[in-house]
Amino acid sequence: MATRTTVTELKQRLVDGLRVLTGEEVLSGSGHLSVRIPGTETFLINPRFAGVLADPKDICTVTFEGRRIAGKGPIPSETPIHSAIYRNRADVGGVLHCHARYSILLGLQDIGLVPFNREARMFADGVPIFPDSHGINNDDLARRMVETLGAHHAIFLRGHGCVVVGPGIEGTCISAIQLERACQDQLFLMSFTTVKPITDASRARVNARLENPYRSWPFLLYKHGVKSKARIRASIRTLKEGEHY
Ligand SMILES: [Zn+2]
Repeated sequence: MATRTTVTELKQRLVDGLRVLTGEEVLSGSGHLSVRIPGTETFLINPRFAGVLADPKDICTVTFEGRRIAGKGPIPSETPIHSAIYRNRADVGGVLHCHARYSILLGLQDIGLVPFNREARMFADGVPIFPDSHGINNDDLARRMVETLGAHHAIFLRGHGCVVVGPGIEGTCISAIQLERACQDQLFLMSFTTVKPITDASRARVNARLENPYRSWPFLLYKHGVKSKARIRASIRTLKEGEHY
């Protein structure tokens, strides 16, 4: 069961994530980030205004049926995206829905995402495209979207945006940033050549070289002024082997 301290900490980390995603131009005035509250059938989500403006006290608690049980709200109209994913994906601890520019543009291309570089490596098993660009504001639409998502890490909502899932707040944010950059890189490359996926052999070499993806998180907190350098360095020093930020 989640303790009060855990929930308080999760709200702060969610707010930090919203600020990083906005700084990276993944989030704008719309979009929402959520996190599963461990041991419960509830999650935390930012209310229906620009995420970067949210304080921890604004963060709402919502059930897996999509009902707000704490926080002033209102919650986003597309909250069914989050509730449907948490109901169906026990492996998912964080969900982002955004209307990021390059994800929308690439989601309009039938070729879809081609994993040709480091940024795209975690999406090597594909990013499905959901053809319905309506707002996912009801359970039936959300259920169909989750079926299309399957076990993947992300899905494009054609002409609308994308949804990215991860093990928790920071992992979801980093994946979303990588997806947006991968889309941007591919669109650039497609303007003058044919994009080919990285070969399996090369991918193995890239994976072998990879650092812990969470290493970028302290840098992102610093880059976007979310925390002071001293506070970020203090949290790095307390890291234990195998722990992420
Ligand atoms: Zn949307």
